[in-house]
Formats: sequence, C-alpha cells, structure tokens
Amino acid sequence: MSVLSQPQFHCEEAAFDWLEKTLWPQGPACPHCGGMGRIGKIKANKEARVRMGLHKCGDCKKQFTVKVGTVFEHARMPLHKMLQAVHLMCSSKKGISAHQLHRVLEVQYKTAWFLAHRIREAMREGALAPFGGVDGMPGAGGIVEADETFIGREPGKPKKRAYHHKMKVLSLVDRETKQVRSVVVDDLKPDTVKPILAANIAKEASLFTDEAGHYVKLGKGFIDHQITSHRQGEYVRGIVHTNTVEGYFSVFKRGMKGVYQHCGKQHLHRYLAEFDFRYNHRVKLGIGDVERTDRALKGVVGKRLTYRLARSDAI
Ligand SMILES: [Zn+2]
Repeated sequence: MSVLSQPQFHCEEAAFDWLEKTLWPQGPACPHCGGMGRIGKIKANKEARVRMGLHKCGDCKKQFTVKVGTVFEHARMPLHKMLQAVHLMCSSKKGISAHQLHRVLEVQYKTAWFLAHRIREAMREGALAPFGGVDGMPGAGGIVEADETFIGREPGKPKKRAYHHKMKVLSLVDRETKQVRSVVVDDLKPDTVKPILAANIAKEASLFTDEAGHYVKLGKGFIDHQITSHRQGEYVRGIVHTNTVEGYFSVFKRGMKGVYQHCGKQHLHRYLAEFDFRYNHRVKLGIGDVERTDRALKGVVGKRLTYRLARSDAI
C-alpha cells in the first residue's frame, strides 16, 4: 500500500480523525474557552447541515472543529485534499509547484497557490533558541556557519553586474544540531546583519564565515571567528569551512529555479521557511516522509494567512 492510499488522504472522516489525533493527543480541547472535560462530538449529517468533525463544548456551549485556529480554517477545500498537499510538500525535496498541486489535487490554480502558502506558514518555526549555545555555558559553544546567497530580482532595482539587484538571503547552520535558519535581508551592511547574528547565535559560539566584509567586524561579537578566504582559493582549512550552509543553498536554489521559478520578495520568507523546514527534518537526521508530514501538521496551529494574501497575484 502506498502512503497516499492511506484513508486520511481520501476519506473526509478519516482526515478529521487523523488531524484530531495529531493536534489533540490528550483529547479534544475547546479553542474558545480551553475546556477539555465536557466536549461532545456531533455526528455529521448532510441533510441537517451538520459539518464534519463538529464538537460542542459543555462549558462554553460553543461549537468547533479541529480546524479552528489553524491554517486550514476557512479553506474551501476538503481536508483530505489538504492533507495530501501537506504530504506532497513534505516529501518533495525541492518542493512542489502550485501548478503541480493544481493538477494533482484537481483544484483551481489559485486555490492550490494559497494552500501551498498556508502549508509554508505551518512549516515556519517561531521563537527559537540561539544557535551554537550549549545551555548558556561560556566557552562550551558550538560552531555556527553563516553565509549569504542571492536570488531573483530585488523589486525596483536595475540589473547590474554584481549581486546588488538580487534578493538576499542570509542563512545560519548549527554544526552540532545540523539545523538551518534563514532570513531575507534588504542588504548586507553590517548594521543590517549584526542584529540578526546577535539574535540567532549564542555569544559562546564559534562563527565560521567567508571573508565578506560585513562578517569581519561582526565576528568580534563571538568567542571565536574563523574565516576562509575564497578569494585566495581557500575553501576548507581543517574544520573551518562554510560547506554545510553552501550545501543547503544548493538545494534551495535548485528548488527555487527548477520548481518555483518566480517568487516575489513579499513571499520569499515563506519559501525559505519551507526549505528550512525540510532541511531541519531531513532523512539524514532520521526523519522520514511520514514523520515530516506529521511534524508539519503540528505546526498548523495558531497561524493564519489573511485574505489579502489570497488576492495578491504575485506568485
Ligand atoms: Zn469551550
């Protein structure tokens, strides 16, 4: 039996059961009052127009489904199809385009496009501990690689020879935990990069970068800063290199070029969240497609996308 032939991808009732099991491991919780004790399930009934997965809270008397307060809320699409989309996005290393989703799921392109962004939102990891820290012990920090890459076109900037007209992405990799974290930056001036490094890398970490000017000063904020000079043909000096983060960029860039092709700057952070998520839950770390999908589903709670995004035409 293939993964996609499992019932939660085909049957709406099974889809609700699946999502409830994932999001309510302790049993249903009322999103209105937080109550858990007196919740009853209301049987779906098409004729009486009772929705699938409906629950009623005995404390506040309000009704809800497991979709309330998640990125799936207000989506006009059966849940089992959305679960298929989550699985496809989680199991395709370089992503899956909205056009492909539109064909596979047999929904309108616009619907597929918006759904993909909902799922990226679920993949976005919020409020995280700084990289390279070992329980705040000074001198015990790990190694963090930092590097940047350039992609597409910065809105309103004329094309030039160097990278100034391109959108800029700064990524950090923690060598110990093998996790990546990426942000879109407007430029690479020290004033722009400094607060990002300060917020995301522990002071006791060792920072590994190339010789780019913005790092030279900024590296002083950390216990150690090692530079490889690409200009002098040096890429690896013992353990000093930025090959890990460059490896991440190669997957990201191949995905963005091959699958997504166009991406407006206003959406770039969501694509990065998608690539970061897959990288941080990759097979090498012992996480298979099924578990990755499960982790993405756990991220659907408490995130929403506005209608404004649905109407925006940028891809
Ligand atoms: Zn309640």
